[in-house]
Amino acid sequence: MTALVYLEQTDGAVDEPSLQAATMASSLGGGAEVHAIVAADTAALAPAGPLPVDAVQVAVHEAFGSYAPLAVAEAVVELAGRLGATCVVGPGTERGNEVLAHVAALLDLPLAANCVAVAVADADARVTRVRWGGSLLEEARVDAPTLLLTVQPHAVAAEPGAGDWPSVETFTPTLSDAALALRVVERVGAATGGVSLADARVVVSGGRGAGSEEGFAPIEELAELLEAAVGCSRAVTMAGWRPHTDQVGQTGTKIAPEIYIACGISGATQHMAGCKGAKRILAINADREAPILQSADYAVIGDLHEVVPAISAAIRAARSG
Ligand SMILES: Cc1cc2nc3c(=O)[nH]c(=O)nc-3n(C[C@H](O)[C@H](O)[C@H](O)COP(=O)(O)OP(=O)(O)OC[C@H]3O[C@@H](n4cnc5c(N)ncnc54)[C@H](O)[C@@H]3O)c2cc1C
Repeated sequence: MTALVYLEQTDGAVDEPSLQAATMASSLGGGAEVHAIVAADTAALAPAGPLPVDAVQVAVHEAFGSYAPLAVAEAVVELAGRLGATCVVGPGTERGNEVLAHVAALLDLPLAANCVAVAVADADARVTRVRWGGSLLEEARVDAPTLLLTVQPHAVAAEPGAGDWPSVETFTPTLSDAALALRVVERVGAATGGVSLADARVVVSGGRGAGSEEGFAPIEELAELLEAAVGCSRAVTMAGWRPHTDQVGQTGTKIAPEIYIACGISGATQHMAGCKGAKRILAINADREAPILQSADYAVIGDLHEVVPAISAAIRAARSG
C-alpha cells in the first residue's frame, strides 16, 4: 500500500496537525509506504528534519506563494496518480479539509473527514470520524479504490519520525487556469497578542457573561499574565465584542490547551465541541447550574468581574513574593 500525505507548512516548518496526519498515515496497515507532498513557491521551502514518512516531494509553483487550495489539490492528484497511491491523507484543519475536498471532487471519490481512527486491511477500510461538531463519533466503511481522509487535529500524538531524514525531491505540477484563479490575494493580520489560539497552552475565554467589549479587560489581563491566548464564545462574536478569529467552538477554533479558563460561558454543545481537547477546564460562572460545570475540572461560582481580577492579583502577589 502506498499512502500520500499532504503536509501544511507554517513559516517553513511542517505544522503539528500535518505531523499528526503523517503519523496516522504511517500507522496504516500492511507497512504502508508513506510519501509526503508539500506545496511551496520555492524548493528552498522543503521541510527539514525527521518526519514519519519515507519520502517528500515538494510541488514547486509560484501559485503556492499564497494559499491556492484547488491548485494544491491538482498537485496532490497528479502525484498520487504517479505514485499509484491507494490512500491520500491530510490534516483535518480548515485548509487541509478544503484541499482534500477538492482532491475528492477531482477524483470523484468520497472523503472521510476528521478521522480519529483508521483501520485498513486488504481492500477494507474502516474509519471512526468526528461528526456534528464533536458530539457524535461515526464508524464507517469506506468503499473506494483510493481512500481519502483527513485526520482530526489532536486525535493522535505527532511522532516526528525516527532515524534518517526522508529523501526530498521537487516537481513542477501541471495546474489548470481555474485552479490558479482560486487563491488568497491579501491577508489582514488579526489584532491578537501573538499567542495562537489553536496552539496555546493556556486559553482564557470570555462569554456573554463578560457583559461588553470592555468587560474583556480583566480576561485580557489574566491572559497576559499567563502568556495565554484570549478566546470567546459565539455570543461574544455575534455581539461584535471580539473578532471571529477568537471564537472557540464548532464554528470557531478547536483548541487543546493544558488548561482552558472559561469565564461567563454557559457551555453550549457547540462551544464545548471546540474545547473538549483541553486537558483541564476551569469554569468561572455566576450560575452553579451552568452546563459547563459538568465538563469542568475546577469551578469558581461568582461574578467574573470580581473573580478574574482576584486571580490576577493573586498571581502577581505570588510572583512578587
Ligand atoms: C450551528 C451553530 C453553531 C454554533 N457554533 C458555536 C461556536 O463555535 N462557539 C460557541 O461558543 N457557540 C456556538 N454556537 C452558539 C451556542 O449554541 C451558544 O449560544 C453560545 O455558545 C452561548 O455563548 P455564551 O456561553 O457566551 O452565552 P450564554 O449561553 O448566554 O451564557 C452566558 C453565561 O455567563 C454566565 N454569566 C453571566 N454573567 C456572569 C458574570 N458576571 N460572571 C460570571 N458568569 C456570568 C451565565 O451564568 C451563563 O452561564 C453555535 C450555535 C449554532 C446553532
